[in-house]
Amino acid sequence: MEMARTAPSNNGQALAVGGAAASTEPAGQPTLPADLVEEMLSWYAGMSRDLPWRRTRDPYAILVSEIMLQQTRVETVLGRYESFLERFPTIAELAAAPLDDVLAEWSGLGYYRRPRHLHALANAVVDHHGGEIPDTLEELLALPGLGPYTAAAVGSIAFGIPALSIDGNVRRIMCRLAGIEDDPKRAPVRRRLEAIAAAAMRRHPPGEVNQAIMELGARVCTPRSPSCDECPCSSYCEAHALGIEELIPPSSRRYVKAVTEYAAVIEDDGRFLLLRGQRPSLVADMWEFPTLDSRLGGTSSGNPAGGQGSNRSRSSKTDLGRYLRDLGWRVRLGPKLGEIRHGMTNRRISCQVYEAKLASDTRGVCREPDPGTPESGWFTVEEAIALPLAASARKTLTALLHADLTAPQTPR
Ligand code: SF4
Repeated sequence: MEMARTAPSNNGQALAVGGAAASTEPAGQPTLPADLVEEMLSWYAGMSRDLPWRRTRDPYAILVSEIMLQQTRVETVLGRYESFLERFPTIAELAAAPLDDVLAEWSGLGYYRRPRHLHALANAVVDHHGGEIPDTLEELLALPGLGPYTAAAVGSIAFGIPALSIDGNVRRIMCRLAGIEDDPKRAPVRRRLEAIAAAAMRRHPPGEVNQAIMELGARVCTPRSPSCDECPCSSYCEAHALGIEELIPPSSRRYVKAVTEYAAVIEDDGRFLLLRGQRPSLVADMWEFPTLDSRLGGTSSGNPAGGQGSNRSRSSKTDLGRYLRDLGWRVRLGPKLGEIRHGMTNRRISCQVYEAKLASDTRGVCREPDPGTPESGWFTVEEAIALPLAASARKTLTALLHADLTAPQTPR
């Protein structure tokens, strides 16, 4: 069945996908043709990846997977999801665990506000919902740290709540299907996309619709070079019919910022100095090597963010030495050991790692920094690996273990 097509538009007026003939929805409601949604669902049933969180209806397991998957690749989550659930099999056990244990289990997944929120959420569920994740969208949205996207995903998959998880993938697919060339983040377009999705969810299982759209966005209808030849929706797709799929949505230049960090690997008697809380706005609660961050600039006493007289261009090995001295550690910086590279959503981070030794005349007297400075500790590599570590510290330690720090680390 061919969908009723409308003329392309620059202002979102082409949103009447399917038209009245394709739907039993009330006149005037934009809809997707029922056949299109059915094709998408049947493609999803046959083609979707066998992922462990798709084999369960346990709301807690679904919640953990949805939070882990936020801005994190499926391949990365696959290595951590089951071990996390083995360590904390129920929401009550997660709530009862010390936050440090949760952070340690999360280590390497990045975005460490997530485990903090998840821990707070678990406690709220135990305290206010008898340990059962609530089954209404309003109650889910009231839980700490649960935004509309994740609440809709958990609600639709675990409880069949008709709520669309709208993110960039979903907006892109819906706009392409409807031939909408306008910015999908504009409120009028967003409202119409929501209306289309709501209509589809009245006729089909909401969780399946959400997951099918997510899967289509991840595997077929990609931002660049969508695989229209393999797409179950191609015969219904307005953008494909008009050959404008790559022009939708209109490009917004992504700003990727380059950031340089300078870290000191200070070794003494086979133990390494690690700090916690030196960059609370970036890696709160995670241990890392003493690190000067070009984003934070200065080298003033005890607070890398407070730097008077320093600026980004001066951040260097010399500034790293000053930073360490200001923190209360007198060290001799040695040669550069190597570079660790890693990335976040809009940042490309290069960490220059230097070898360092405590200055011999200060051995034993510089280990007690002033109050108010970051928490510090001396750890063997094996002890450190078990801590909740920032991503660059974990990569540095892994490189130390394999003695290959001089080789640049591959960005994730
Ligand atoms: S036909 Fe192409 S543009 Fe349209 S939904 Fe499928 S992959 Fe996306």
